[in-house]
Amino acid sequence: MDATLSYLDQLIGAGLLIPTGVDGLYGRSGTFEDVICRFEALVTAEGGRDNPEVIRFPPAMTRRQLETSGYMKSFPQLAGTVHSFCGGDHDHMELLAALDSGEDWTKGQEPTDIALTPAACYPIYPMVAAQGPLPPEGRLFDVQSYCFRHEPSADPARMQLFRMREYVRLGTAEQVQAFRAGWIKRAEGIIGALRLPYDVVPANDPFFGRAGKMMKVNQRDQGLKLEMVIPVANPQPTACLSFNYHQDHFAGTWGVQLADGGPGHTACVGFGLERIALALFKHHGFDPRDWPTDVRGLLWG
Ligand code: ATP
Ligand code: ZN
Repeated sequence: MDATLSYLDQLIGAGLLIPTGVDGLYGRSGTFEDVICRFEALVTAEGGRDNPEVIRFPPAMTRRQLETSGYMKSFPQLAGTVHSFCGGDHDHMELLAALDSGEDWTKGQEPTDIALTPAACYPIYPMVAAQGPLPPEGRLFDVQSYCFRHEPSADPARMQLFRMREYVRLGTAEQVQAFRAGWIKRAEGIIGALRLPYDVVPANDPFFGRAGKMMKVNQRDQGLKLEMVIPVANPQPTACLSFNYHQDHFAGTWGVQLADGGPGHTACVGFGLERIALALFKHHGFDPRDWPTDVRGLLWG
C-alpha cells in the first residue's frame, strides 16, 4: 500500500469502493460486500440465539414518522427527504429549460411522503406502538437498513449512505439495560475474535445547535450512549458499534407501552457495517485471502 495515498484513495485504487464524484456515496465491490455478508452471519449466529423478530424495512420511512420522531428537532443537519416532480406539462417545459441552461431545476420539486431512514431502528418504534402494549417479556427485533445522513466527508468511514445492523429491545428498564450490558460483552467477543483492537467509551449523538450542547452533556453524563471504537483511517479511533439506552423516550414519542400501561423503555445495539468492513481491511489487508487463518475461519469457515 502507498502510505502517501489517503485510505480512501487506497480503497478506491484497490477497487473495494467505487467513487461517484460525491463524498460519502460509493459503490461497493463484491469482496467488500462478501465481508459485510460474512460479518452479518457472525452477528446472526450470536444474536439469533435470542430468537429476535426479524424485520427489514426499505431505507425509508414516512415523512410523518420522521416529523413525529423529533429528528428535525435534534438532527436537522443530517436528515434527508425525498422530493419529486409533481407538475404538469407547463412545469415540465420549465424543468427541461432549466436543465438545458444549467439553472437550478430543483425549485419545482415537491416533498413526497417519504423520508430517508436515519437509523435502522427508527421504523420499529411506531410499528410496535401501533401493535399495542408489550408482552411481559418485552420484544426484541433484528433490523438492518441502509441509512442516510447528510454528512459529506472525504473520510471513507463517514458515508452518506451506509448500513446499520441493529438489535432493538423494548421492555422494562431492567430488561433493556440487561440487553445492552449483555451485548457489550458479546460485541467484545466478536470484535476481539476478529483481532481488531477496540475500546468501549462514553459517547453522544451530534445534537444540533446551542440547545443540543446540553443534550450532548446529559447523554454522556447519564451513560446513555456507549460506542465501541476501532482505529480505522484517522488518528482518532472510529465508532463502529453503538450501544444506546433511550430510557422511556419512545414511550413519550410513540406511546410504546408496557403490559401494565407504564412507559416502555428501549435500547438498541447498532453495528456500523461499512465501518467494520473498513476496519477489517485496514488491520488485515485489502485481500481477505491473506487475512489471519483464525479470522478467515470465523468468517468463511
Ligand atoms: P440512535 O438509535 O440512538 O439514533 P443508533 O445506534 O441507531 O443510535 P448511531 O449510534 O448514530 O445510531 O450509529 C450507529 C452506527 O452506525 C455507528 O456506531 C457507526 O458505526 C455507524 N455510522 C454512523 N454514522 C455513519 C456514517 N456517516 N458512515 C458510516 N457509518 C456510520
Ligand atoms: Zn438504534
